[in-house]
Amino acid sequence: MASSRCHLPGVLAAAVVAGGIASAVRAAEPPALVASIVPLHALAAAVMEGVARPHLLVPPGASPHTFQLKPSEARKLQEADVVVWVGEALETFLDKPLRTLAGRATVVRVGELPGVETLPPREGGVWAEHGHAHGHGKDKGKGADRDREIDGHLWLDPMNGKAIVLGIAELLARKDPARAELYRANAAREATRIEALHAELEARLAPVVNRPFVVFHDAYQYFERRYGLAAAGSITVSPDRPPSAKRLAALRKTIRERGAVCVFAEPQFEAPIVASVAEGTGARTARLDPVGTPPIEPGPAAYRRILDQLGRDLVTCLAGPTG
Ligand SMILES: [Zn+2]
Repeated sequence: MASSRCHLPGVLAAAVVAGGIASAVRAAEPPALVASIVPLHALAAAVMEGVARPHLLVPPGASPHTFQLKPSEARKLQEADVVVWVGEALETFLDKPLRTLAGRATVVRVGELPGVETLPPREGGVWAEHGHAHGHGKDKGKGADRDREIDGHLWLDPMNGKAIVLGIAELLARKDPARAELYRANAAREATRIEALHAELEARLAPVVNRPFVVFHDAYQYFERRYGLAAAGSITVSPDRPPSAKRLAALRKTIRERGAVCVFAEPQFEAPIVASVAEGTGARTARLDPVGTPPIEPGPAAYRRILDQLGRDLVTCLAGPTG
């Protein structure tokens, strides 16, 4: 992927000087934006359409929970003007590099943008014991950090996606005033598309709202709340640690008692455990993808494709025969 950060050739630079301030503003480079995961990259790419393409760190098919930053990516962070991520609860791998490498960049935690609603990690029973807030181990858990702990999968509420698009547009408009109207127009168009998708998802999911299901890891709280879905629990406490035998036994009991229709694996994790959890319970197994996996390609449409596919995969499994 070609970098959008080229330097003005000498001839053009001279022309800019000769042409005065208006030309200089028009010719300024757009901000170099780095985004952590496919859905956030997509929202930024939609805002920057026709201007430049943001750089993506975690490729499709990888999980932000287990990702390791490549040394070659360090330069991207050093050159960044804007870095967009959720925070250390989700992209643990970025915590330290952001502090040491991205010194000159504006770092955006999308949960702090205006209009984005965050939820605390789910606790208790067959949900995670303390969310799956990686990087928030007991040894590191200062009181203030605990209070700020959020469930990081906030992009899975399309209303948050819309707020993120509008928030990124305002930030870019401040950094690059010459293109402010373009960023705002792009964001308005993407927001309208997200609203249309939301209406479609509402209609599509309505018939399965009372069908209980179990997920691989607790990633879907925002989506479930938005559409009133009946999630009954998650298999893992944390996607990078296998669940205990005790937890699996409790989960099988829940599946039987609540009549869970489906147990969902995820493409980012090898999970033979999903089949063994479902075995003998009457529940079907299928897959859900919270973050973007091939054939979904990074780009401006990827956010909507992820949500659309999530809706389809849920309905396909949950709408089937029960018992
Ligand atoms: Zn997750």
